[in-house]
This record gives sequence, structure tokens and C-alpha cells, in this order.
Amino acid sequence: MAAPAIATGYGGRLTVDLGALKRNWIALSKVSRGALTGAVVKADAYGTGITQASRAFHEAGARFFFAATPDEGIAVRAALPEDAHIFILSGLYPGSAPLYVGERLMPCIASIPMLEEWLQACIASNQALPAALHFDTGINRLGFRLNEVSIVKRMIDQIGYQPQMIMSHLACADTPAHEKNRTQLALFTSVMAQFPGIPASLSNSAGLMTNRENHFQMVRPGIALYGGRAVAGRRNPMAPVVTLEAPVLMTKDVKTGETVGYGALQTMSQDSRIAVVAIGYADGFFRSLSSSNNHRGTNVAIRGQLCPVVGRVSMDMIGVDVTDLSEPPRPGEMVEILGPHVSVDDHADVANTIGYEVLTSLKGRYTRQYTEGASPTG
Ligand SMILES: *Cc1c(COP(=O)(O)O)cnc(C)c1O
Repeated sequence: MAAPAIATGYGGRLTVDLGALKRNWIALSKVSRGALTGAVVKADAYGTGITQASRAFHEAGARFFFAATPDEGIAVRAALPEDAHIFILSGLYPGSAPLYVGERLMPCIASIPMLEEWLQACIASNQALPAALHFDTGINRLGFRLNEVSIVKRMIDQIGYQPQMIMSHLACADTPAHEKNRTQLALFTSVMAQFPGIPASLSNSAGLMTNRENHFQMVRPGIALYGGRAVAGRRNPMAPVVTLEAPVLMTKDVKTGETVGYGALQTMSQDSRIAVVAIGYADGFFRSLSSSNNHRGTNVAIRGQLCPVVGRVSMDMIGVDVTDLSEPPRPGEMVEILGPHVSVDDHADVANTIGYEVLTSLKGRYTRQYTEGASPTG
């Protein structure tokens, strides 16, 4: 994340609770007892900070990490002791094998050209370089097609290569009743039969939280570690990790019939008090969280009380209806954008997206701080 050149501390404040990250990892490792529990730390650990989050998971006991790109893998390698095992979910980029070898990164090999390059690197270095083989059981994204299993087997048998792990990825795990979950599980089981004795991994957060049969030898949770809702329509048992606050700039009384914000999309139906708060879409507070006469927007919280956003979200600010507060907020008072009263998924539902996008969009003009629960650690 590019830090702003000047940070006076007057803007928003994003707090990541490292204690909550650890508790979430431990809770999931209990759910998947018997399997190894990895930690997915792609996209700057879902926006929470890849270095700090990886260290928190390692302290909690995690030893297997999943990054998306080699750059992320290098960041994890630099953050952690030698005993960390790092998989790269995007696989192998052409020409990148020497970099992976140097940094001890394990690609999740997903195609014949990737496998050719990796086996060449094994031959050239006289080592059985560890890697996962990723099979596509129906998501039609990364992974070998199932009719390539025999080619893959022939290629690796030729040099006696054994993968570290075989894996696949569920397309519909957040919807447990979806029948694709059963077909993918059956297809993955048939692939496993072709690789006896090799550890297998199928589950993301939702897959591991909904069905023990998905666990196999390794689970790969991401969103649940960060407090997001993994399974649609269920109570989310995870501890919230991210608190985001932004300051009130000023308050203003607006009369019945007046409108607020760009486009004049929301007309006040009563005399109201509006707080102008210093966060906007440039900070990852989506424009689709806006409110208008015919579409309710999202809420934020002030002193623990929910207050609706009024009118359009601007680049740098939002209007918040604070009429119902017994005392108007003071300039500089912090508004809870995300935290104990407003979840990542509350915003996601209004914006018609998912918590993943809310979290990974928080790249704004914030002061970041990390806590272990109670006291800031800098
Ligand atoms: C992102 C990802 C995960 C983690 O998914 P969550 O839904 O965040 O738990 C696991 N496996 C693969 C292949 C992924 O791309």
C-alpha cells in the first residue's frame, strides 16, 4: 500500500485487531481439527496488512500461507521465520521459477506449461522442488482440466516427481445447498485416488465451515480469518478484525424539502441535522453505499448509535443524518464506519457486493494502527 507522503493523523483511522486475527485462526483450526489449517494472505491480507497479519497467524500457530502473487509471497517470506511454507495461488508466471526457488515459494501449478517449467527447474537444479498441483473440478478458473490428469501423471512419473499437495477450489461453497459442492467434492475425490498418499486441499473458509468432508489434509481459509461472513444467510461466528473511523468535519441543519449532495438525489422529509464526515469513495467507501429518495443507503455509527448516510457519497466526504442523536457530534469526533456496530457485510449487502471487496478496497487516506485487542502497538 502506498503511504501518503504526509500523515498528520487528522484523517481517518484504520485499526486492525491482531488479537482477533489470532483468535479467528485458532477458532477455524479447531473446526478443522485433524487437518492442517493454512492462512490465505493474498491482497495485503484482505487489506489488513500482509506483514502484520502473517506474523499474527504464525504466532497463533499457522505454518502454511497462501499468497496470490510472487511479490506477496516474498513479503510473507520476509515477515516470517524459516518454518513458514508459502504457496502461490496464481501458480507460476513464465520465467519466474528461479525467483520461486530463491525465495522458497511453492507455486500452485495449474497448467501444463507451468508444470513443464517447474519440472525443468527441478531437473536443472537437481532437486524435487515442492509445489502443489491445482485441479479444476468445475470453477473453470485456474487448474488442470480433469482430462489432463493422465498427462500430468505421466510428466511427473517420468522424473519421479511427487507434488507437495494436490488441490482444487469450490465455486459455490458460500451456498452450502448448491449441488455443485457435491459434484466438485466427488470429482476431487476421484483425482485424489490418482495421487495416493499426497496431501489434498479443497476448502476455503465456507467450504471448511460447512462440511467436514471437505477438510482432507489442509484447509485454506481467507475471509473468515478477517471477520467476514463466509456463508450466505448464516450468523457469522467470527470476531470482527477491522475498525475504521473517520472524523466529523462540521454539522449543518437542513430544512424539510432541501436536498443533500451531488445530483440532489435525497430530499429531507423533515428538518434534519447532517454531519459531514471525512470519508468518500476515494477511501474505499463505495459510491454504491449512497442514499436517495427511492434507495436506502448504508449506515455508520456515532457513539454506538446507527445513523444513515444521506445523499450521494462524494470523493472525500459523506453526509450522515444525526438528527436522532441526543447530542450533535462535535467537529473532529470520530464516526464508526466499520467496527462493532457496522460490519463489513452490512456495507457489502447495501452495495450489492461481498465483504471481500469492502475489505480489499480500504486503501484510503487512513492512519493505520495495529492492536492486540486493547492497547495500540503502533
Ligand atoms: C482466495 C482463495 C481462498 C480463500 O477463500 P476465502 O473464501 O476467502 O476463504 C482459498 N483458496 C483459493 C484457491 C483462493 O483463491
